[in-house]
Order: sequence, then C-alpha cells, then structure tokens
Amino acid sequence: MPLTEFSPMACIATTPTGAKKLQPLCQNKAAILWVPESLSEIEFAQIYKNSLKNHLANLWETHKAIVFCLATGAVVRLISTLLKHKSIDPAVVVIDETGKFVISLCGGHQGGADKLTKLIALQLDATPILTGASNGLGLPAVDMLGVPFGWCRGGGDWNAFSAAVAKGEDVEVIQEVGSSLWQNHLPQPNPFKFNESTTPKAKIYITHKSFSPSFHPFITWHPRVLWVGIGCERGTSKQVITDAIEKVFQENQLALSAIAGIATIDIKNNEVGLIELCRQRNLPLKTFPSEILRTVTVPNPSQVVETEVGTPSVAEAAAIVAANQMSNVETGYIASLQVPKQIYRPSIENQKGENQKGAVTVAVALAEKEYIGRQGKLLLVGTGPGNLAQMTTAAQTAVASADAVIGYSLYIDLIAPILQKHQIIEALPITKERDRSLRAIELAKWGLTVAVVSSGDCGIYGMAGLVMEDLQAGGWDGKNPSVEVFPGVSAFQSAAARVGTPLMHDFCAVSLSDLLTPWEVIVKRLEAAAAADFVTALYNPKSKTRTQQLVVAREIFLKYRNLDTPVAVVRSVYREDEQITLTTLEKLLDVPVDMLTTVLIGNQSTRTYGEWMITPRGYSNFGS
Ligand code: SAH
Repeated sequence: MPLTEFSPMACIATTPTGAKKLQPLCQNKAAILWVPESLSEIEFAQIYKNSLKNHLANLWETHKAIVFCLATGAVVRLISTLLKHKSIDPAVVVIDETGKFVISLCGGHQGGADKLTKLIALQLDATPILTGASNGLGLPAVDMLGVPFGWCRGGGDWNAFSAAVAKGEDVEVIQEVGSSLWQNHLPQPNPFKFNESTTPKAKIYITHKSFSPSFHPFITWHPRVLWVGIGCERGTSKQVITDAIEKVFQENQLALSAIAGIATIDIKNNEVGLIELCRQRNLPLKTFPSEILRTVTVPNPSQVVETEVGTPSVAEAAAIVAANQMSNVETGYIASLQVPKQIYRPSIENQKGENQKGAVTVAVALAEKEYIGRQGKLLLVGTGPGNLAQMTTAAQTAVASADAVIGYSLYIDLIAPILQKHQIIEALPITKERDRSLRAIELAKWGLTVAVVSSGDCGIYGMAGLVMEDLQAGGWDGKNPSVEVFPGVSAFQSAAARVGTPLMHDFCAVSLSDLLTPWEVIVKRLEAAAAADFVTALYNPKSKTRTQQLVVAREIFLKYRNLDTPVAVVRSVYREDEQITLTTLEKLLDVPVDMLTTVLIGNQSTRTYGEWMITPRGYSNFGS
C-alpha cells in the first residue's frame, strides 16, 4: 500500500462515525486506529485510556503521521504544545466527520502531510485541502525538490527563501551535481531561472560543496554524489575515521551530507570502525577485490600498499570504482577524484585515548548520478478503460504516490487529473513498450518509486507482463526493486458491462494481433474457443494494416455457431467517443472495427433483448 511510506501512522477518532471514516486507512496494517474506552466495540481498533492529550504526547515522537477525524479546533488545541519544528514534527492530517474534506494541517512539506492528504483524499473520494504557498502557485514545494532523489537539505535561510518564492520572486538555480530530471517537469510558467544572466534575489544551490554565502535568501541541496575511499590500519576506530573524513571535507569545502557512501578493499569488510561508521551514518559500505582496484589508474599509487594488499591503491581506486558504478552507461562518464589521497593520523595528545590509534587514508570521487539510498519500487497499474471513475482507488493512490509515472501518452492524458506537480512524467509513443519498460526498471533500480500505467488491466495484454519479463531477463532477485501490481477493469469487462451480461457463462479472451504471437497459434485458439462454446472477447481485432484477422475469426466461429449469434462491437468504452453496436456474426463485418474496439461474440445460448446482450447462467437444455 502506498500509505505504508508514512508508517508508523496513527489514526484517531472519538466518535463511531469518525472511526468508520478512518477504518479504510488502517487496512493491511498501514496504520493503527485509536479510539477512547467509550468506543471499545469498534472492530480492529486499539483503545487509549484516560486523556487523549497524554496519549498523543506518546505517539508524537515516534510516529511519522497522525490522522484525526475530529474538529480542526480540537486538533489545534491538542497538538499546540507538542509542535517543535517543521523539520521534525510528524505530518498532521484532519478529516471532517462527513468524510468530505481532508485537511493538511501541519508538517505539510517536510512531514509529508500534503502528500498524505492527497493520497487519503483519493482513497476516501474526498476533497484535499492544502494551504501551503507553493500549492497556490502550482509549483512543487522547494523544500521537497530533492526528496525523491535522496538529496539532503543543506544550509540556507529556508524561511526567507520560501517567503521569496511565495511572493512570486524569480529563483536562480545553480546546479552543479545530481539529476536534472526535476527540471524537465516543471509547470509553466515557473520562477526558476537556469543559467540566465538576470539577477534574481533568491537562489538554490544544488551542490556537493559546503558554503554559506551571506547574500540574498538562498538554500542548498546536497545530492549524495561523493564516494569516500578509505584505507586504514587494522583496528582504527570509528572516531579516527570520522575525524579523518571530517577534516578532509572541511579542508576541501565539501558537504558531509553529499556523501553517498564509503568504498574500500574487500579485506576490510569486517573492519569494525568502518562498519560502525556506516551503520551510524546510514551509509552503504562498498568493498572491491584487489584485482579490480589494481586496474584503476590513480594519481598516488604506492609500492608498499601493493606489496601488502595486491593493489597499489585502496582509497583512490575504491572511490573511483564506487563512483563509476553510479554513472549512466550511455554518457560514458568517468568518475574523477575530487580529493586525491590524504593521510590522517590522530594528533599526539589525542592518541592517549584508547580509541585514537591507527591511521587513515581518505580520497573522494565524484559520481555522475546521486545515490538515492532507498529501495526502488515498481507499481504496475491498470488504469481501467479510460474514465477515472472506472479506475480503482488503490490504483489511483498508487499513481499519486509515485515519484515517476511512465506510460503510453494517451493513457497518461486520461489520468492527468491525478498526476502530481512534483512527479516525473514520461509519456512515450505507443510503439515504444520495451523502451518504457526498460526505463521504468532503470529508474526503480536507482531508487525511485515508478508507476507504469497501462489501460484496462495492466496484466492483460498490458505493460505489467513486459516489465516482469524484462526484470527476469536482467537477473532480478524477485525483491529489489519491489513490485506491486494494481489490477484494473479490462476492456472485456467494460465492454460487457455496457451491453448487459454477455459474460455470464464461461468465456475467454483472444488477441488477434499476430505481432507477438504466430498467426497459427491464434487460429488454433480461436478454433478451440469456438468449438468449446466459450463466449469470446476479441482484443486487437483490426488495425490499418491488419485487416484480415477478423474476417478469418468470424469464419471459424461460423463453423460452430449460428449466423444470428449475438455480437457486441464496443469502441472506446467509457470514453467520450464511445460507440456500441449490437449485431450478429452474420453482419459483423459491416460494422466499423479498429484498434480501439473490443468484439464480444456470444455463445450458443446468448440472446439479445432490446438493447441488451444476455448470456444465461445455465444452459436451458441442461440435463436433457
Ligand atoms: N490491458 C488492456 C488491453 C490492451 S490491448 C485491457 O486490459 O483492457 C489493446 C486492446 O484492448 C485494443 O485493441 C482493444 O481491443 C482493447 N481496448 C482497450 N481499451 C479499450 C476501450 N476503451 N474500448 C474498447 N476496447 C478497448
């Protein structure tokens, strides 16, 4: 469930109606529903004893999000003494008792309350109420800009900066490192100025460097692009390694929060100080064998090191190899050293402490692509026939929760109202299915949550299958990136619903497209379906160049079924240009059919009744 990103989340209601409103949010353990003792009969709820104020104080520190079904006034009074700072407070969301409105009360940006509000509103079919300035401007929030890419917020006057943006001032963007994907999807017009010689007052620095200019409102974001190569004497403590890194970063004006991870030689993968450092700072530790490290050309090779560990460089070579792993294949980027090897020993007076022994070499390399630091997700989503009302709430919530949405342009247009301002939207032409699939996998492997959308059900002649095949071909371990499939109403169901109940008995679907399936196989299946008296839905019945398949299919069915067998020809079902024609097998070829059409052929018992097509649940001559 998309809501799990806000876990642990608490939902609080004080009335039975409120508890009912919140229950759907607490399915699948996405959140815990809390109610007072007086409501102990509410199913699946946990009871808080005594005062809600005390209970809330306990939840506050440990929860990412708290959702109330309560008057806003009451919530404001309850949380007023708990609020500390928007960078640490949980997201607070309020739902009114009628369930019509979802209000992002506080923690809007950094707490994620705005996003949570939109997701809940989709799930409850309610109106989201967001009052942050960037929402009014139709812009992604500046303090959320780098979040999908795992960037860390750096120094700057964030409040003054946000105020400048809210006033409509231009913002100069100076981006030295990290992905520029966020720039490709900005609404027009927007206040951002890229490499322009105007003199806007507010500035965003997207950099790996640490600096604090004192002019104008500015903010800094740090993409995690720096790989720190480390070599150290056995037993060097975490403290010494930390001191070494901090010293090197300070001397070279590099930002510690731009560190992607630590790289070293594989014999160091049990070096306690290194492991502790990585655990404490939540950094990946990448280790490489000497055979790989020795192939890297470095500025400061050492004969002594080579004799000892089999490669003339550990810190420099490991930093370069780790950084190179984070580059795009197509750009041919070769990582460069930002800082060549520096040797660090704790000062004499420090060495008295037990933890101060040892020596460290540090080198820093710059990667082309930032390390996101999250496991990516692929959400394979069926959008239904094309009208949003026919798309499941779970599917809508999945799309709204994604960092990136990929699909055929027509379907992206159809779901435009649920797309979010900060999302990366990649609409590709219809013939580019494989490109879409590979692109989605690439972004998810990097760490993004990617929704791949296809019409109808994504797993019925849709993109989901292609993505799974490509994942498998790429040696996927079945877990990373994680995959979740969201079913949708397929064309055969939509078409059937619009003409009545033609699928009341056994049915099957056959695609007449022989682009990916040999025609002989299709013929064999049509024969089998016709002979076994299945009601049959024909997908991809006819295109501009493929015109004969439907003619042959009709002939096959006529071998087993009467000329007056009911047939529904349903085009663009649930879309604006929907066309429905009830006909018979005899007259099927008189009706216009194209690639937006599904053809439903009745079985021997199917009949029409006025405008309706009805297949009986049982065979009338059953048992005779
Ligand atoms: N995944 C889709 C099918 C994609 S194959 C689904 O589950 O519905 C494409 C074919 O689906 C089209 O050639 C047409 O036969 C059918 N189709 C898709 N959308 C349709 C619509 N809105 N109305 C009628 N047929 C449709």
